[in-house]
Amino acid sequence: MSQSQNLESLLGEDRICENVDLSTYTTMGIKSVAQFFFEARSEEDLILSHKVARELGVPFLLIGGGSNIATISQRVSGLIVCNRYQEKKRIRKKDNHIFLEVSSGYLLSKLIREVADEGFSGIEHLFGIPGTVGGAVCMNAKWTNPPYSIGNAVEYAYIMDRNSSIRKVGGEYFKFADGYSAIQDTKEIILSVGLSLTKKSPAIIKGTMNTVLEYRKKTQPQGVLSNGCFFQNPPTSSAGLLIEKTRLKGFSVGKFSVSNIHANYIIHRGGGTGKELHALIQLIKQKVKRKFAIVLKEEVVVI
Ligand SMILES: Cc1cc2nc3c(=O)[nH]c(=O)nc-3n(C[C@H](O)[C@H](O)[C@H](O)COP(=O)(O)OP(=O)(O)OC[C@H]3O[C@@H](n4cnc5c(N)ncnc54)[C@H](O)[C@@H]3O)c2cc1C
Repeated sequence: MSQSQNLESLLGEDRICENVDLSTYTTMGIKSVAQFFFEARSEEDLILSHKVARELGVPFLLIGGGSNIATISQRVSGLIVCNRYQEKKRIRKKDNHIFLEVSSGYLLSKLIREVADEGFSGIEHLFGIPGTVGGAVCMNAKWTNPPYSIGNAVEYAYIMDRNSSIRKVGGEYFKFADGYSAIQDTKEIILSVGLSLTKKSPAIIKGTMNTVLEYRKKTQPQGVLSNGCFFQNPPTSSAGLLIEKTRLKGFSVGKFSVSNIHANYIIHRGGGTGKELHALIQLIKQKVKRKFAIVLKEEVVVI
């Protein structure tokens, strides 16, 4: 049996696609071909696809909303699993607190809108961040004005390790820091997340969401293909400011440009290649290093 037939026999007929263009699965939208592609619609799908890939020795890559992934390779080998597992349950309510368990494939902004309607506060500053809850926890999605990250609300999570074993861990397991969670090193898979929220007036929560959106509109490019901020902020400076000071705003390689609005955004005008993006990334890093002796590190997961 071929690898594709093996995968199909274990994951279900017609559920494995070969040679899938990933451009519609990432917000940067670069054409890159996934060897095998599977959409996980439930927790069982996530667990089984991980187990099957491990047993067959096929590399496994999980994509949430693809908003922090840039594909520079023309071809991504292995099983690419897109997380569409969307489920939400309220676990318990105590005084002013609610503990909400949500699946990792749940869309973050959809969740924020829903809990705001119910008057539960704690994640509204993250409104407008694309992607899933799992991706947000993995990247410790954050807002800077005021500083706030999803790690602040994570009470516990169910995660799956390299051997496909599942366990419950407390929020402290993630060692949340700026743009960081331990999952980035352990490569474990987040299945679901328990969030701790507090009761507040829906009007106040929605007010915060509107303020955040307005600020985004004023300071960040809108309606373009991008990954948001591309580089991590070095400890003593802002990556955007460093790039701006190297006069790279508006600079292009092929179909990719440094945004004129926010220098830490790389914008894709469509039809560009991973090679072009790679060249622009290297050029930005070289210029910043030469001028400031600072080595920028990608915040985006580049594959
Ligand atoms: C326009 C725009 C604005 C943005 N603004 C912000 C912002 O204000 N703040 C901010 O922090 N980020 C921002 N981002 C970046 C991005 O949206 C966040 O990092 C987001 O939380 C990533 O979620 P995702 O589901 O898209 O993850 P993906 O991009 O799909 O994945 C990112 C990484 O997480 C891993 N991953 C995904 N799901 C899981 C899981 N269930 N278990 C384990 N690992 C997993 C992937 O394998 C990959 O390594 C922005 C991006 C865009 C395009």
